[in-house]
Amino acid sequence: MSRRAVAVRIEGIVQGVGFRPFVYGLATRLGLAGLVGNDERGVFIEVEGGSAPVEEFLAALTGDPPPLAVIERITTGPAPVTGRRTFAIAPSSAGGDRHALVSPDVATCDACLRDLTDPADRRCGYAFTNCTGCGPRFTIVRDVPYDRANTTMAGFRMCADCAGEYHDPGDRRFHAQPVCCPACGPSLRFHGPGGSGAAGDPLEPAVRLLREGGVLAVKGLGGYHLAALAADEPAVAALRSRKHREDKPFAVMAGDVAAARRLCVVDPAEERLLTGPARPVVLLRRLPDASVAPSVAPSVAPGNRWLGVLLPYTPLHHLLLRALGQPIVLTSGNVSDEPIAYRDEDALERLGGIADAFLTHDRPIHIRTDDSVVRVFRGRDLPIRRSRGYVPHPLPLARAARRPVLACGAELKHTFCLAKDDRAFVSHHIGDLENYETLRSFTEGVDHFRRLFDITPEVVAHDLHPDYLSTKWALDQDADLVGVQHHHAHIASCLADNGVAGPVAGVAFDGLGYGSDGTLWGGEFLVADLAGFERAGHLAPVPMPGGATAIRQPWRMAAAYLDLAYDGDVPEDLDVVRRNAGQWAAVVALARRGVNAPLTSSMGRLFDAVAAVAGVRDAITYEGQAAVEFEQLADPAVDDAYPCGLVSAGTRFAVPGVELVRAVAGDLRAGVPREVVAARFHNAVARVVADGCILVRKACGLSTVALSGGVFQNLLLLGRAVTLLEERGFTVLTHHRVPPNDGGVSLGQAAVAAAMAANSPIKGVRRELSQARHTWFGGMSETGT
Ligand SMILES: [Zn+2]
Ligand SMILES: [Zn+2]
Repeated sequence: MSRRAVAVRIEGIVQGVGFRPFVYGLATRLGLAGLVGNDERGVFIEVEGGSAPVEEFLAALTGDPPPLAVIERITTGPAPVTGRRTFAIAPSSAGGDRHALVSPDVATCDACLRDLTDPADRRCGYAFTNCTGCGPRFTIVRDVPYDRANTTMAGFRMCADCAGEYHDPGDRRFHAQPVCCPACGPSLRFHGPGGSGAAGDPLEPAVRLLREGGVLAVKGLGGYHLAALAADEPAVAALRSRKHREDKPFAVMAGDVAAARRLCVVDPAEERLLTGPARPVVLLRRLPDASVAPSVAPSVAPGNRWLGVLLPYTPLHHLLLRALGQPIVLTSGNVSDEPIAYRDEDALERLGGIADAFLTHDRPIHIRTDDSVVRVFRGRDLPIRRSRGYVPHPLPLARAARRPVLACGAELKHTFCLAKDDRAFVSHHIGDLENYETLRSFTEGVDHFRRLFDITPEVVAHDLHPDYLSTKWALDQDADLVGVQHHHAHIASCLADNGVAGPVAGVAFDGLGYGSDGTLWGGEFLVADLAGFERAGHLAPVPMPGGATAIRQPWRMAAAYLDLAYDGDVPEDLDVVRRNAGQWAAVVALARRGVNAPLTSSMGRLFDAVAAVAGVRDAITYEGQAAVEFEQLADPAVDDAYPCGLVSAGTRFAVPGVELVRAVAGDLRAGVPREVVAARFHNAVARVVADGCILVRKACGLSTVALSGGVFQNLLLLGRAVTLLEERGFTVLTHHRVPPNDGGVSLGQAAVAAAMAANSPIKGVRRELSQARHTWFGGMSETGT
């Protein structure tokens, strides 16, 4: 029989995910000889044997790889036949694995779950059980190459049994860097009111405390969480008041999918997300009868039709949930909006006033990583926060970064992004970049990513907002600077998310972003590709009376809009006027004078205004709250919409938001139910999206639309807009890998900087993408309405 030899190279996430044992097992099963090893580019294989088994081997490589492997590229070529008879795992060359990709953290796999519950297994009940298919990764990696000495497991010396598994190519723990067992690995501890419970299983007092209505701090993968029984109203209310978190919903951890189904509707796409290796918080529709036991206390997600649910993702969570037999609130371990605590001493100090006890352990967390949050839109992921379980998985760039790029992100929901060649590494969620603590998280994170991925940025991309800490930091860097307009970055992030380069009609609706003209934008129609944009249309600007105060007090936006809508003669029978009568005149005067009342074209502020007029709320306690609640108010059965004709203004068009506010106020005064009003408004904004895109298509022939910006987290609006656009023949791009909100901005900045550098060498030149420099939209004045 003729022998054949083939050399194979596999690139992607193929290290630390059990790829070599998989190859070893496959080759030995097929009776093939050769070797497999890791090097700086991924996995290399030489395989030889009969033609048929070699073919079978190659097919299985791509057809059935280990579940966590992500094969980006596979190349095969002939190799010399050597006549060897065995298959071996080649030792890694020193420093050879240096640039292999670090995997995100992975939820406990089924095999480890069986070990955890098998009384005969030496890891039965052990809270740190893991294997090459699961366990901590990104959160424990200190440096590359990814091996144990460079993780926070370095301090735990493997016992003989674990070492045996670690070195056995046939074992599923072969080269699993965090491998450990009760004899050699980390251990749980309980710190209660009476000090540390020394004797017995630390889980027992923790479970008892929760059952008795206490608040428990639990050390997780990327930080500390605070837990309380989800059904226990006094416990959840206590957690809320101690955390100083007024209304923002808490997430709930349910034991399994069946438990999640007792609280919420779970469709197949949502089930896939809930049970997948990333284990994000999934926003699910609550069952109308969720008041039936086991219930969720009213304080968990007050007045919310949605509930954030996640399933256990570490052995500790599994053990805790099994012992409790009911869902728990599991929220980030912090006070108010501070970053989540992840270092033990800091957690004890900061959470001491919130938690009644601590369930902790001695495996350090190297990098703070929050839970990810995802919604499902039409069967596909719509990320709201991309962090644990996804980071640092690279995203492909449609236009490669010829020179390495650091994109500094925006401010709220901050992330940064490092890009090199065709890969973009978007960071974990840093938080709102508004103080020293988060700024330090950002700069330390940048240093860490630079080391992990061996990227030395030559180009630094940043927002145009001069007051963002990320901008200020960027301007201090010794690199070529690229200022990227905020909404261009949003559209570019949507393009990058979809692997395309444009041009498109980009609709960027969000809270606020610094415009090229120095005003605050946020209701933008752009003609954009990765390298540039032109502003095609926008919401007509209105004053924000009191500046940032108007963000926290949506009724101020209502005052500004109503004053314009009724030409200074606002009907006094409107509830919003009555409720705020004391300050109404002063705020209107502020708006009219234009002092401390910056102009904005923000769609988020229009939602705020309308929500306040409709009586949803006059003041908010978290970003976007009024709009979130307004969305939930809307009756989805209502199909009609308020009219809103787009107005041509020179070569651009404007969206008269004032007309919508007038229509809303008119309906409310006529006694139309608020649920109908909210729906008509959403439908009107969806029509505005479609009408604006039709104008852009008329002017420059673009029939692909990209929808981005935080406003498109609103599923009612997103769904209606996508339907209208598709009915009109548009191809619609939405977000699936990074959030539409500002968490995705850093990817957009990186994509823009990469595309600009690809177009023209910009070394030594500082440029701002502030001016329209394309001619796509030149014909607007003739063709606009
Ligand atoms: Zn496992
Ligand atoms: Zn051990």
